[in-house]
Amino acid sequence: MSNSALNWQVVAQEGEARAGVLQTRRSLIETPVFMPVGTAGTVKGMRFESLESEELDARIILGNTYHLWLRPGAEVIRACGGLHRFTGWERALLTDSGGFQVWSLGALRKLREEGVEFRSHVDGSARFLSPEVSMEVQAALGSEIVMVFDECAPCEASHEVARASLELTARWAARSRRRFDELQRDESDAGRTPEHHPSVNGEQALFGIVQGASHGDLRRESLARTVEIGFDGYAIGGLSVGEEKPVMYDTIEMLAPLMPQDRPRYLMGVGTPEDLLEAVARGVDMFDCVLPTRNARTGQAFTSRGKLNIKNARWTTDTRPLDETCACSVCRRHTRAYLRYLYATGEMLAGILLTHHNLAFFLDTMRWVRQAIRSGDFTRFRREFLERYNSGVE
Ligand SMILES: [Zn+2]
Repeated sequence: MSNSALNWQVVAQEGEARAGVLQTRRSLIETPVFMPVGTAGTVKGMRFESLESEELDARIILGNTYHLWLRPGAEVIRACGGLHRFTGWERALLTDSGGFQVWSLGALRKLREEGVEFRSHVDGSARFLSPEVSMEVQAALGSEIVMVFDECAPCEASHEVARASLELTARWAARSRRRFDELQRDESDAGRTPEHHPSVNGEQALFGIVQGASHGDLRRESLARTVEIGFDGYAIGGLSVGEEKPVMYDTIEMLAPLMPQDRPRYLMGVGTPEDLLEAVARGVDMFDCVLPTRNARTGQAFTSRGKLNIKNARWTTDTRPLDETCACSVCRRHTRAYLRYLYATGEMLAGILLTHHNLAFFLDTMRWVRQAIRSGDFTRFRREFLERYNSGVE
């Protein structure tokens, strides 16, 4: 039996772009992979049967520690046997640490060495989140992949501010690692299953997070200190938080080749279809983003020819599907005219159908990306995809 929580293998590489296979205790995940976001224990508007169907075949989704900790609470989920039992999702889960949500609270939070004090947005109660608490909550959730508790400096942070944040993140990473290891030894992980794949040890995996804002030297130092502690995978945090695209792409281009070759690399909270292709080209393996699900609920569809706003009056009698090249069940059955009508009349099916198509588009895109890397055709695929994507919806 393996003594690691993940089994990760690169099966093809073209330039920096990598195609790999990631085995967790619950799922075999082909990378590069897009992970749909299930913030509060639900990928909004999607039944798990749809996510698991051959059409979408999502192997891993995200859960959000901050939201689940506030409601229904870690003890409720632990009492129900972990997030898998509680929700009925049987494939892999990655949980974030809550650090980013707490950071998003801005002035409403108080940052100390020990952790962060803030008020719950649900009931106004005083709360305290720390590396230890985050590890304990993620053990109660029982996810396959746990993220360390980090502090996210804004991208425009000065060198001095970003350095202080990096130092704090490094100390919190070490504390996360210690508490995580204790919890694994105590078997506090609610998601443990006896039926895990023989190539992994059945424990949770822990990913470290590289911070450092837009300062190259700090990013490199953060990476070195994170690798020194040692994790099952490495994430790039603090990007896609409002900086210019070239800053994000340059940071990834500089950082990814320095990251351990034998561990998966995860770009947190990114991004648009263009971002995914650009980051894959620079060596990233894993992504999550709310765009396909959140934007669907405001009437935006992603298609092979760019974004389509279903609210637009020009679709009133348009009997074409959202995307003529999409094979998803929404595009096979429904017209733009019908989807526009559903949206305009406030029918809940509008959000459900748009979310389904958008996830199909993101997951299909990553499937094509993997095939292209495996067949040594990624450079051409990326160029043609982006040309078509930027050509505009007709
Ligand atoms: Zn479709």
